[in-house]
Amino acid sequence: MSALPQPLPPCHVDPAAPAFGPMPRRAARQVVVGGVAVGGDAPVVVQSMTNTDTADVASTAKQVAELWRAGSELVRITVNNPESAAAVPRIVERLAMQGIEVPVIGDFHYNGHQLLQREPACAQALAKYRINPGNVGFGRKKDLQFAQLIEFAIRYDKPVRIGVNWGSLDQALAAALMDENAQRAEPWDAGRVLREALIRSAIDSAERAVELGLGRDRIVLSAKVSGVQELVAVYRDLARRCDFALHLGLTEAGIGSKGIVASSAALAVLLQEGIGDTIRISLTPEPGASRTQEVVVAQELLQTMGLRAFTPMVTACPGCGRTTSEFFQELAQVVQEHVRAKMPEWKISHPGAENMTLAVMGCVVNGPGESRHANIGISLPGTGEAPSAPVFIDGEKAVTLRGDNIAREFVGLVDDYVHRTYGRVVDA
Ligand code: SF4
Repeated sequence: MSALPQPLPPCHVDPAAPAFGPMPRRAARQVVVGGVAVGGDAPVVVQSMTNTDTADVASTAKQVAELWRAGSELVRITVNNPESAAAVPRIVERLAMQGIEVPVIGDFHYNGHQLLQREPACAQALAKYRINPGNVGFGRKKDLQFAQLIEFAIRYDKPVRIGVNWGSLDQALAAALMDENAQRAEPWDAGRVLREALIRSAIDSAERAVELGLGRDRIVLSAKVSGVQELVAVYRDLARRCDFALHLGLTEAGIGSKGIVASSAALAVLLQEGIGDTIRISLTPEPGASRTQEVVVAQELLQTMGLRAFTPMVTACPGCGRTTSEFFQELAQVVQEHVRAKMPEWKISHPGAENMTLAVMGCVVNGPGESRHANIGISLPGTGEAPSAPVFIDGEKAVTLRGDNIAREFVGLVDDYVHRTYGRVVDA
């Protein structure tokens, strides 16, 4: 007689979690950064950071413009010396002359209080100041210099991000918490103490800024680490203990697929739990790669999770032994690049096109079915199939493409669909 089935192990899914979709967004105070709302009921905002020498006005303005065109809604630049501080207003002015009004955020470490004092035009031109409490100053100077930075934010009416980082944690605070921990009857492990130090550094600094007169609705917090599990733990705790808007990012995520996977894994867990008001993907660019990749990954993360829509998404099968040609891979790439290139124009002329779904499939097994689920899908012929490619539009077979111009004709059908389907904005 066979053994009775064993009961299933207890389910670890949070009973409060919805059966489908993310948890409701955590209620955070809304902060307006140069006209862009962060937190509250605003959508999760994509931001990025330049890697040019800020003192090089032309290169920095060019890269800010590239990041903005790729979809970055806030762009941060390093302000680390008098030359870069002097360059900031010229960068912002150059962008404005091109019609680019993206908020530019200044990233300050060590000497921000001196640079803002020395360059009032820089203080005015920036849309937000990023302050790292771990290296704002040391010893007795720390509190004074932090206060000076907050006073500049109040004087110039700018929000701040208090951005704590694992790599530059306030060592005096970490040491004090280690001592405190040693007195516990059951001491925490070192990792938990360091996580607590990160959170306390962020929240205590924010409360100090409030005491100095900065509004709670002028503060964004972040507490970045480079480990996925540590980041999730830190932000869950931070989200529970304050109502400041939160900026998410896995710091020093790494290069290539490792950086993309690690960032996506960490941020997806938090976003699914309703935590996070703005995100950055801190990728190390591969040699020669565009800095804009971090913006594309951030957008794709939010869009694949169903949190925002930026660009029509292409569903493509991975291919297998049923398709020996690379044609469907090339077509998927051509279509994705085409819609991404057209989106800045469609955003204005055909709003809603970003919600369009496309499918490029390799054979008859899943091709027609997946194509019917998309707004427009094409099922290419697999090995041994007749050389024809049915196209499905809104679930119905619309046309069959054949011959050497399938890619061009399919892209034409996509453009026609956009023109027919999404609201055309007509000049008054
Ligand atoms: S749709 Fe066809 S070609 Fe693509 S993975 Fe499935 S079986 Fe293979």
